[in-house]
Amino acid sequence: MKLISILIPAYNEEAVLDQLMVRLGNLANDTKDYDFEFLFINDGSKDRTLEIIKGFAETDPRVSYINLSRNFGKEIGMIAGLDHVQGDATVIIDADLQDPPELIPQMIKFWEEGYDDIYAKRNSRDGESWFKKFTSKQYYKTLQRVTHVPIQEDTGDFRLLDRRVVEAIRQFRDTQRNAKAIFSWVGFHKKEILYDRDPRAAGETKWNYIKLINLAIDGITSFTTAPLRLSTYVGALVSAATFLYLLYLVIRTIFFGTDLAGYPSMMAVILFLGGVQLLSLGIIGEYIGRIFNETKQRPLYLIEEYHNGKTPKKARRKS
Ligand code: UDP
Ligand code: MG
Repeated sequence: MKLISILIPAYNEEAVLDQLMVRLGNLANDTKDYDFEFLFINDGSKDRTLEIIKGFAETDPRVSYINLSRNFGKEIGMIAGLDHVQGDATVIIDADLQDPPELIPQMIKFWEEGYDDIYAKRNSRDGESWFKKFTSKQYYKTLQRVTHVPIQEDTGDFRLLDRRVVEAIRQFRDTQRNAKAIFSWVGFHKKEILYDRDPRAAGETKWNYIKLINLAIDGITSFTTAPLRLSTYVGALVSAATFLYLLYLVIRTIFFGTDLAGYPSMMAVILFLGGVQLLSLGIIGEYIGRIFNETKQRPLYLIEEYHNGKTPKKARRKS
């Protein structure tokens, strides 16, 4: 039988895990033609998440878990999981039941038809503010335009990946990751299915705007150098305008003399140029920062414990 791995990044999710496990169990029971592996990634939770997962693993051989040595963030949690899944296909799903597990059989159906990456596109985003919806839409529009890689809008990380896509993604060892951009980059046969995103079943979102903005910047800087090009254009444009203004000043002085006025316009030009220069420096800094981080070649994550539900007891080890 083919094995489907369900990959669940979890950070402080004690409130929803029981519900999640019931829904996953139902799913596995209803989908008898496949074996399942439930791989939980405990991302340094500070609550009882790990304890609860260990409880599942004791009674259910389908449950595996990775306990990361601290909180690394969902992006890193996902790659840690992808490095360890054993399935012929892998489904990435949030722990908070915002992604309905009931969609998975449909994904499997399309997978059997030959698609490699079946992603769930949100019909509605209940429980999210209009501001979050609006900013997310604009961001993906822009990212799409500057990267020239087709990016799936209104799509989270909830998707089924064929093993060959998983193997492709494993080769991406970027430290500042943006999974959505990677899923888009690797290509393969993609299929979209629509669903209504539910509000979180319990607990609280771990995202705040600072984290989202950082993720957004990572998405851009990891996939395109367009901002550098942009600062080149702005620099060229400003230089050209300044040169014309300079000509105008010289000619005016030759024909009409000088009256030493012009303090406001001078301030305006200086401040504007200062702003443009700082912005360009900031953009260059973003990329140097990325180079710095990647050249350190640190491991992406550290594992405190890996429990593989299916391996016989003697093979288990702490790593
Ligand atoms: N998550 C994680 N590490 C983190 C933050 C979140 O593994 O540092 C997990 C979290 O447990 C959940 C998923 O990522 O399963 C999505 O997080 P959340 O629901 O907070 O994000 P939202 O749905 O609001 O975008
Ligand atoms: Mg959520």
